[in-house]
Amino acid sequence: MLNWDRTLLTTSSLCLLLFTTMLPVRAKPVQPKKPAPTATTIYQQAKKELPEDFYTLYRVIDRVARANELDNRPWRVVAVPKYDVNAYASDVNLVAIYDGILDQLAGDSSALACVVAHEMGHHTKRHIAVGEAKKTELIAKIQEEATKEVLGEREAANQESTAANVGGAVVNRVVGGTFGGLLGSVLGNQGAQRQVESQQRINEIVEKKKKELEQRLAEQERQQEFEADEIGYIASVKAGFEPEGCLRVMQVLAQTPGSEFDTTHPAVPKRIEAIKALIIKYPPQTLAKEGEARISKTKPLTYNISKDKTSLRINSVRGGSQADDIERRFGK
Ligand SMILES: [Zn+2]
Repeated sequence: MLNWDRTLLTTSSLCLLLFTTMLPVRAKPVQPKKPAPTATTIYQQAKKELPEDFYTLYRVIDRVARANELDNRPWRVVAVPKYDVNAYASDVNLVAIYDGILDQLAGDSSALACVVAHEMGHHTKRHIAVGEAKKTELIAKIQEEATKEVLGEREAANQESTAANVGGAVVNRVVGGTFGGLLGSVLGNQGAQRQVESQQRINEIVEKKKKELEQRLAEQERQQEFEADEIGYIASVKAGFEPEGCLRVMQVLAQTPGSEFDTTHPAVPKRIEAIKALIIKYPPQTLAKEGEARISKTKPLTYNISKDKTSLRINSVRGGSQADDIERRFGK
């Protein structure tokens, strides 16, 4: 894949499968003790317990979620052990980051925050759920319409074929012999041929309309990428990261082959221009101030290994333990 993106659930499942076997090596399952009461201790604990990549991703999501009021849901993050300069959003609130992009952005938490916030943006805008459901619905509609459109012709062809067969039989009876048989079969074959042609026409219509749909969806996806880029910029800057982080990500993406062209993603030069425009439209200082105000009113989020043991779960403001919650409400 060229750029970071949403991926179909099948692909993400594959990635998760890969990750299932890799996680124990990369991130020993963590069952943290009771959440530490202060930011300093919880972050120190995280640094001690988590591999560096996960520690960084936890800190990034903690800030982005709190600064942007996205801390009302749990987030999950995986580091995919494959050297792709890519990341994607899939499943429910899952952000997957490939080793390649972690490596290329080493030492640059602002750039990483932009990537993570971009993927979180795909989730908050429901790009995945809406996109896939809509695509399935539209393809079904195309097939239905194409069948309806050709149905009349098909029926006509059927009738003609029947008529031709009857004609052939009549010729056979009247003319008899080899000549009559041959004529009948020619007339019959003409009708059958028309049926084949009708079927071909349905296929052609479906193919043509599917291609048009794919073009429309690709255009929609490119718009969604611009939207996610906008969220990536706003949310990471609100979280206190450098606005240039997003531009540095684009510089890395610009080095990947074909990045100058529109694909499922807009061409990288267009994305760079759009981000530069965002920096003017939404001044970084204003965003940072807004985000800081929210962060200062909230507590650090806690974390756990997800139930399926394949990802790190950054908990919502409600924390990660139902037992703790019930005790808080009704006592021990
Ligand atoms: Zn994207």
